[in-house]
This record gives sequence, C-alpha cells and structure tokens, in this order.
Amino acid sequence: MPSDFQSKLGNTGTSIFAVMTQMANEYKAINLSQGFPDFEVSAELVDLVNFYLQKGENQYAPMAGVPLLRRAICQKAKNFQGLEYDPDTEVTVTVGATQAISTAITTLVHPGDEVLVFEPAYDSYIPMVELQGAKAVSIELKAPLFLPDWDEVRRAVTSKTRAIIVNTPHNPCGSIFSLDDIDELASIVKEHDLYVISDEVYEHIVFDGSQHRSPASHPDLVDRTFIISSFGKTFHATGWKCGYCLAPEELSREFRKVHQFMVYSVCTPVQYAFAEFLQDEQNYLQVGALYQQKRDFLIEALVESSFKLTAAAGSYFQLLDFSGFHTGSGVSLAEKLVKEKGVALIPLEPFYRDFKAPPYIRICFAKEDQTLKSGINCLI
Ligand code: PMP
Ligand code: GLN
Repeated sequence: MPSDFQSKLGNTGTSIFAVMTQMANEYKAINLSQGFPDFEVSAELVDLVNFYLQKGENQYAPMAGVPLLRRAICQKAKNFQGLEYDPDTEVTVTVGATQAISTAITTLVHPGDEVLVFEPAYDSYIPMVELQGAKAVSIELKAPLFLPDWDEVRRAVTSKTRAIIVNTPHNPCGSIFSLDDIDELASIVKEHDLYVISDEVYEHIVFDGSQHRSPASHPDLVDRTFIISSFGKTFHATGWKCGYCLAPEELSREFRKVHQFMVYSVCTPVQYAFAEFLQDEQNYLQVGALYQQKRDFLIEALVESSFKLTAAAGSYFQLLDFSGFHTGSGVSLAEKLVKEKGVALIPLEPFYRDFKAPPYIRICFAKEDQTLKSGINCLI
C-alpha cells in the first residue's frame, strides 16, 4: 500500500459483533453475543424463497424494490402503526437496515453538519456520519433506564445540527420510547428544523403489553423522518440482509438517488418471498410473544446470579449489571467469560466514543431455550 494512504476511519477496528462471534467459535463457547437467532427461519418462508428461485425470479429487482413487497410493507405500516406511505414513491427496499442507515445518512448529511446520536450507539452510526465529513455529537443515555434526557438534547443542538438518529427499541439497552419521548423529540426537531433517522429494526419485539411507537406517528415528525427496519430481525433471517426505508416522497426520492449507486437493488427471490409472507399479519405480530417467553426465561434464570438487571422493554437483548462482582471493564469480563466460562456476551465499550461505558454487558436471548439454558449455566 502506498505510504501516504490516509484511513477514513482511522480509529475504527473490526466490529465487536464479528470479534465476539469469532472468539465464541475459537473457544467453542456458547454464542450469546452477536444478535442473530440460532433457530430456523419459518419453513414456509424458506419454501417461498425456493419457489421464486425455481420460478426464475433471478434477475435484478426494480431499483426501489419489488412492487408487491413495497405494497406489503406499506400495508404493514398501516395495520401496525396507522402510518400511510405510498408504495410507489415512499418506500425503498434495502440490503438490511445497515444499508438503509448508511444511505439515509449519506442522503441527508453534508460535510460540516452535526448529527446527534445517543451513546451507547449502534456501531455503524458514528462511522457513517464521519464518512460524510460530518460530526457526530453524542448524548449519553444514562443507566438504569437508558432513555434520552431531552434537556440535554436541547442543549446539544447548534446551528449546524442537521439530524438526530434514534433507535427504539434500543440495541443494546432494550429501552423503548414512550409517547412523551416522541413528543419531546418532535418539539426539538420542529423548533430546529431537523431530520430524524429512526432505526426501528426491533419494532415487533416489545414486551409486557407495551406498544412500539414510531417517531413518524407524530404529525410533526412524519415529514422529516426516515423509518428504517429489517426483515432479518422480524423473521429470524439476518443472513438474507433485507430491510427497508419509509420516508415521505421528497426524502425517498433523494434516498433512492443514493441507493441506486450504493446497491441498485436487492435480492429478488427473497423480496417476493417476504411480500407473500407479510400477507399474514400473524407472521410478524406473534414475534413479540416468542421473545417475551425467552426474555422471561432468561430473567428468571438469572434472578439468583451475581448480575443485577432491569428487564428489557424491547429488542432481543438484555443488559446485565456486573458491578456487584467485577471491577474491571466489560471487555475484560467478556474475555474472561468466553475463555474461562464458555459463553460469549457483548461488552458495551464499543458502543461508546465520548462517554465511559457503565458496568453492564449485553446478552442476546434470540436463542433456542436449550442454548439459553446452557449459556445461563455458564454464567451462574
Ligand atoms: N440497527 C440495529 C439497532 C441493529 O441491532 C441491527 C442489527 N442487529 C441493524 C441496525 C442492522 O440490521 P441488518 O442486519 O438488517 O443490516
Ligand atoms: N446488530 C447485531 C448485534 O447487535 C449484529 C449485526 C452485525 O453483526 N453487524 O449484535
């Protein structure tokens, strides 16, 4: 490599999710780290992909996504959240949420802009903002609730602030926005003329009778929000990398300008399969109950452990407070657990840039009961 090469992401190493999964494999540990299910995708969904492969749906899909799928996504948004989006002009199918996030940031953010993010922050947000030559301004979500302090958000806004990235249900904290949070967000966004990138990949995974609320459900936010979601999370198919972005027409038009040069289009047979699978709303509405059972199982099993915890309100992650028995970092605990106890979890340090990670470690409960049981046995 020429000696004058300048890294655009100089401080960035390999994603913690890849690192911990590799360590889990190396040490033959139970992998409760990276967020993916170890159970099968529905046989019906696999059959549908097979069907469309055999049928010959193997060439480029339309740039914005297969029309059937776009219609199904808009129907879901309407049934589930009462949100009205036009399938022709206001939804774009993406290579998972990761690409939708990158594309939305690229669409919106100019060099010199500031983008508000909350720490702990999902790993791609800050690097993608920085790749645009913009500045990510971090605000801390404080334990144990891990919800925004909206006065701090107000204080962080400057004349350069362009957008705010929110994530509800939250990875890694499992917190969810209330209607009050959305009202607060709306008042700030409206007052300062900002945009919202709303990462809602765990929209169908909320517990204890709560409801997921998209910021776009607020009348002052709908015109300024990119909703991002992922079928990988909802349908246990993270490896298929299929997601979407919902945004009003003008924003979607700009989003698609970038999308066409980033990926152009997304795997065709998978899109047809999701389009058909979405016709039965039970396929996504029952996901919350599946994970509620797993979360409850996990919490019950850990009651007697040395960890303290506040039950996750959503997502398939649970934070465990280790301050009662480990004074070192989350990274050192994660290393110890994988090497000595045979279980891999995710430390929080990689989710922080400006703030010190609190003494919590993340466990993923998107696992078969037997996997969870074995993993928990290593922890207690
Ligand atoms: N956002 C959050 C909060 C996530 O947890 C994930 C993945 N777990 C993504 C985005 C990326 O989703 P995808 O795999 O569909 O790219
Ligand atoms: N989002 C998943 C997690 O939080 C992992 C996704 C990835 O590996 N990029 O574990």
